[in-house]
Amino acid sequence: ATPTALLVGTGRGAQLGIVIKGPEVLEATRDVDVVLLDKTGTVTEGRMGVVAVHAADGVDEPELVRLAGAVEAGSSHPVAQAVAAYGQARGPLPGVTALREPAGLGVVAEVEGTGAVVVGRADLLASAGLTVDAALAERLAAEQEQGRTAVLVGWGGAARGVVAVADTVKPTSADAIRRLQALGLRPVLLTGDTARTAEAVAAEVGIDQVVADVRPEGKVDAVRRLQAEGHRVAMVGDGVNDAAALAQADLGVAMGTGTDAAIEAADLTLVRGDLRQAADAVRLSRATLRTIR
Ligand code: ADP
Ligand code: MG
Repeated sequence: ATPTALLVGTGRGAQLGIVIKGPEVLEATRDVDVVLLDKTGTVTEGRMGVVAVHAADGVDEPELVRLAGAVEAGSSHPVAQAVAAYGQARGPLPGVTALREPAGLGVVAEVEGTGAVVVGRADLLASAGLTVDAALAERLAAEQEQGRTAVLVGWGGAARGVVAVADTVKPTSADAIRRLQALGLRPVLLTGDTARTAEAVAAEVGIDQVVADVRPEGKVDAVRRLQAEGHRVAMVGDGVNDAAALAQADLGVAMGTGTDAAIEAADLTLVRGDLRQAADAVRLSRATLRTIR
């Protein structure tokens, strides 16, 4: 490989808005055959807003929103920020203590007058010993089937409501998926959200394969599993919880609109956060390395 051609390739990348860490990255880019795509902030905008609140029978909805908002105010997760902003807009939030945030599951905190309040995935409520009645479980599933991220809110031994948060798919995502497929790459959606939500989003952008319900450390395992099967794996992500998987992948791709942790762990950054540029990078690497051979 002539160093000059590689430098020209990385320079051309920069012009396209693709920052390539070093000339050797082009080789990894060319060889990739599977692309794992993080859902929130990568395929979707990552700007979430509350779109529905369902209070269980006998539960006061403003109270539900207030408690959920108070607990979520202590977390920087995009779901948490949406729920906290929604609560704040409806009145002052009570203070909380003893906040715990099991990564990729939700938040638990003590609220004065109520005790421990849990907001998050069904498995988090279950592990906190809270029951979920059939009506709420049905509400939760119905929201997820629409591609929304829905979380349960519970206290005093039971789930008391569902809060659904929606994010929109980026307008460029479906086109990006088609371009990656046209280059012979297989896209896979990878997320800590539920399979129901992930499948609805995948269908919207034309992805056939989904790996869902993964904890942050499970994203690394997903990369390793594909590598063990002999694949050359690219991972595209934006969050702190994607950093380890970006480092493990044969090619780590960060959204320039994402967190510093993701950008630092990646080999390549898509400056505008436009997923179509992942396909541009593959085309560029193939063209560059062809001129070298
Ligand atoms: P992703 O892979 O989409 O970036 P995460 O791994 O960060 O998702 O989170 C997985 C799921 O855990 C979320 O979809 C949400 O249901 C739940 N969750 C995580 N953090 C929180 C939180 N602070 N509040 C409520 N739910 C949360
Ligand atoms: Mg993300």
